[in-house]
Amino acid sequence: MSENEADSILVVTPHSDDSESAAGGTIARWCAEGKKVVLVVCTNGDRGTSNRSVKPEDLAKTREIETINAGKAYGLADVVFLKLPDQGLEDNDEFREKIVRQIRVHKPRVLLTIDPNRPYIRHRDHSITGRVALDAVFPYARDHVAYPEHLVEGLEPHKVEEVWLFRAETPDEFVDVTDYFETRQNALHSHLSQVGPRNDERDERSRKRLAETGKKYGVPLAEHFMRIKLNR
Ligand SMILES: [Zn+2]
Repeated sequence: MSENEADSILVVTPHSDDSESAAGGTIARWCAEGKKVVLVVCTNGDRGTSNRSVKPEDLAKTREIETINAGKAYGLADVVFLKLPDQGLEDNDEFREKIVRQIRVHKPRVLLTIDPNRPYIRHRDHSITGRVALDAVFPYARDHVAYPEHLVEGLEPHKVEEVWLFRAETPDEFVDVTDYFETRQNALHSHLSQVGPRNDERDERSRKRLAETGKKYGVPLAEHFMRIKLNR
C-alpha cells in the first residue's frame, strides 16, 4: 500500500454498463473491503438502444439513474458523468483533460479501465476510452506541465501506481468474486435499459461465464484483468 493510505480505485468506463459486465464482481468486492471506488462514465449512452421510439435524451437520463442505482448496489464513493457523445468519443485534448482532471481530483492508487487493444471488431468508444485513460495516467496526470490550469485550481499532479484492464486480450491477474455474485448481478441489472431485469436464466448465464474464468485460476467464480504496474 502507498501514501494514498486507504486503497482507492478510479474506474473509467466508456458506457455505464461496461464496467458492470466485465468487472462488477471485482468492484463489488473492493467496495465491500472498504476501498474507495469512484466510477467515471465517459459517454452519455444516448445511443444504447435498438428501440426506434426511444428519444436519445430520455435514454441518457434513464441511463444516469440506472448508473446511480448500480453505484448504490456496490456502495461506490462517487459516480462522475462526463456526458461526452455516445459513439462519438475522440482521442483528443478535451477527453484527455477530463480524465486527467478526475485522476488529480480523486488521486487513485489504481485505475481500472477497458483494454484498448482488442483487434479488429471493437466498439470505437471502447478502444478510445482505454487509450485515453492510459495516456492520462502516463504521462499527463503525472506531469505538472500538462494542463497547468489544474494547478491554478489547486489540483496537483498525481502518479497512479497500477492500471488494471478489463476485457483484456492477455489477462494476467484474477479476482475471486465468488462471494460477490449477488452484488454484481444487482449492479448489472440496475442497467435495465441495457440488460433487462434480473432473472434465474440471466443469473445462470453470468455464473457460468464467471465459473469458466474461475476454473483457470482454481476458484469458483472469477473475473480477470491485465495488471500493469507503473515504475515510480
Ligand atoms: Zn460499451
